[in-house]
Formats: sequence, C-alpha cells, structure tokens
Amino acid sequence: MLEDKNPQRTSLEKLGEFGLIDHLTKNFEIKHNSTLKGIGDDAAVFDHKQQTVLTTDFLIEGVHFDLSYMPLKHLGYKAVMVNLSDVYAMNAKATQITVSLAVSNRFPLEALEELYAGIALASKVYNVDLIGGDTTTSTSGMLISITAIGEAKEEEITYRSGAKPNDLLVVSGDLGAAYMGLQVLEREKEVFKVNPNNQPDLSPYSYIVERQLKPEARKDIAELLKQLDVLPTAMIDISDGLSSEILHLCKNSKVGCNLFEEKIPLDPTVITTCEEFNIDSTMVALSGGEDYELLFTIAQNDFDKIKGNPNLTVIGHMTEASEGAHLVTRANTKIELTAQGWNSFKSND
Ligand code: ADP
Ligand code: MG
Repeated sequence: MLEDKNPQRTSLEKLGEFGLIDHLTKNFEIKHNSTLKGIGDDAAVFDHKQQTVLTTDFLIEGVHFDLSYMPLKHLGYKAVMVNLSDVYAMNAKATQITVSLAVSNRFPLEALEELYAGIALASKVYNVDLIGGDTTTSTSGMLISITAIGEAKEEEITYRSGAKPNDLLVVSGDLGAAYMGLQVLEREKEVFKVNPNNQPDLSPYSYIVERQLKPEARKDIAELLKQLDVLPTAMIDISDGLSSEILHLCKNSKVGCNLFEEKIPLDPTVITTCEEFNIDSTMVALSGGEDYELLFTIAQNDFDKIKGNPNLTVIGHMTEASEGAHLVTRANTKIELTAQGWNSFKSND
C-alpha cells in the first residue's frame, strides 16, 4: 500500500489560494502534445486530432469516502481511477484531467500534499496531464470533482448501445473484491471505536482491501483488445455492480441477456470473506460495486481471439430483448436481474 502520514500541520490560510494551487501543482509535467496550455491561464487548451471523450465524477466525504480508513494519498489515486475507468469504457485513451477541490480549513497543507501525491502517482502511471481545476473552501469536509478527457478514433469508440443478440458478454478481472474490502474496513472501524489499542491484522484481506483503497482502472484491457484485434460491440465499466451494468447495456442496446452464475470470476479471498460474513458471493458480484472492471460484448466470431486469456472471462450472452435479462443459477434456474447495484441515495449508505 501507499505511504501516508506527515506529522507537520501548516494551515491553509497561511498560503492563500494562489500559493496553494502553485504549491500543489508545481511538480506536474505536461506529457502530451495535445495539451497546448495546462494550468495557469483562464482555461486550458488542448487539441485532439481525433474525437474527444469527457467524463466527470464527484467524490464527497461521508458519502463516497471515509477518511478514518482512507489515506488521502489513496483517495487522490482512486479519484483519478474512477474517472479514467469511464474513459477506458469508451475504448478511448485518457490524456488529460482537471481536479476541483473544496476543503474545510480543518485540513492542513500536508493533507492536501498527500492527496496530490496520489493524483500525481495516478497521472504518471496512467500517463495523463493535469491541466487545471478549481480550489475553494467548504464549510464541512472535503469534496473532490475530477474530469477526465480522452481521445479515440471515431470508429473505435464503444457505446453502451451496440450489443446484438448472440454477442458474448465478457468481463475483465474479478468481481466483488472492493465491496468485501469495504466490509472488512467497516468492521475494523467499529472494533477500533470500542478498543483504540486494537491494531487489526488485515493481512489475510490484503487483496480485497487494496481493491477498495487502491483500485486500478483497466487501461491494459483497452490496449489488449486492440492487440487482439477485438472491437467490443458495447462496453461499460463496472462501478455499481455487475447487475445494474448489464441492465444498462441491455436497455441501451435493446437486447436481453443470460448471465451464468458459475462463470462469474471471483477471487478466492472474496469467497472466504463472504463465508466469514455470511454473504452470498454472487450477490456481492451482482450488487457490490466499485470493481472498476470493464464489461463488454463481442461478436461470436471474435471468441477465438479472447479464448483462454487470463484477464477475460465470458460470463454470458445477449439475447432478443423480449427474453429479458436473467441470471442462470448453478442449479439451472433463471432469476430476473434487478438493478440492486450500489445506490448512493440509499438511506443507510
Ligand atoms: P480562475 O479564477 O480564472 O478560475 P483560478 O485562480 O481558479 O482561475 O485557477 C488558476 C489556475 O489554476 C487555472 O489554470 C486552474 O485551472 C488551475 N487550478 C485551480 N485549482 C486547481 C486545482 N485544485 N488543481 C489543479 N489546477 C488548479
Ligand atoms: Mg477558478
């Protein structure tokens, strides 16, 4: 995991807004020729010779993240990942980001340095330019809004709407780990409240905790598909759980779907942790969320190109819309898929 903890506390008021922006962004380098003007003018200027994709996401303290177990460096990294994942889901290359921040003055400068260290690491690893943002105060807590920009050839952009009956449904990686990581972190937080001297041993859960705290967007999958010469007919990233993402594909493409329970890829740690928490692992994959894997459909003809690839699993196929969207269980019964995906408006979140 990433390093955190900086003992110094410099108050934000001392720096002022401009000093703060300068201080936080001075070490970012521009890497793309398409970035003509980054930070430092009234607006950034960029020039994509191809089509441009743009996506934005809000992260709110107390709704989307909890700083009692989320180190700020991880938060910065994750905030970038959440957005890049959406760019990759369009089969585009991510090139630029902007970062907008509202912070209460309970945060010292060192906290924002940690946050920007995570943003800087993500920008470096994923090769994107930080080209602007906005900085303001908040009366309570922290809000981060990141916008990610990308480019793609017109004919390579994958919309949610292109799936056809008989297309195969494919997912990258494995599912449910981030949700189970969150369950473990929430449990340890409760234990800590009762006994602050109790240092939890999270090592058996390291994979799932890392998936929650430091997710990686699937830049590699978009690149792999290009190498394999596979153009998905439709694609979406899995932020709210497999079930609701499948329903988005079905609705936008006007198709149905059969999803096979036995095919859903699960890490062994997810299976054992689900047993420990007495939760059904299929439910976790369907409704857990925050996996940031890619879910896409391909023509049957492309099956040989992806067959046996350890990063990709065929989990079902699309049908006529009239057949609806179903989970085919291990016992071979059909259950209608419902969008019980993670919902930030739920009262108990
Ligand atoms: P304006 O008042 O014209 O909106 P600002 O003073 O807010 O300009 O911002 C000055 C420059 O710093 C702009 O290029 C803006 O995009 C950039 N910027 C502001 N806040 C951030 C931030 N949190 N992260 C990165 N760049 C930022
Ligand atoms: Mg501004």
